[in-house]
Amino acid sequence: MTEDAEKKWIALMYKTAKKYHKLCPYFDKKTAHCLLTATLEGKLGRCDRDGRFEGCPIFTKLLEKLYRHYTDSRKALPRDFQDVVNQAFTV
Ligand code: SF4
Repeated sequence: MTEDAEKKWIALMYKTAKKYHKLCPYFDKKTAHCLLTATLEGKLGRCDRDGRFEGCPIFTKLLEKLYRHYTDSRKALPRDFQDVVNQAFTV
């Protein structure tokens, strides 16, 4: 797989995620915390983007990690972000 294929897949995930989520699914509205920072970096982090996830480096990092997971384990790449969520994949 080329870097191009990864970029295309990440773009597709953003596009499909926006269909379901107006705000980032990892944004805690009450505390403004980013739930992904805790998972990816093991520390509590605030979201300084008010949940606007388009182009967010943390959200992109998750997608890059997922891409590697799917390609390394030779699993079919989901074509819809919701499928990623439904598979309850833990990073
Ligand atoms: S920092 Fe990014 S991943 Fe985290 S809640 Fe905000 S938009 Fe979502």
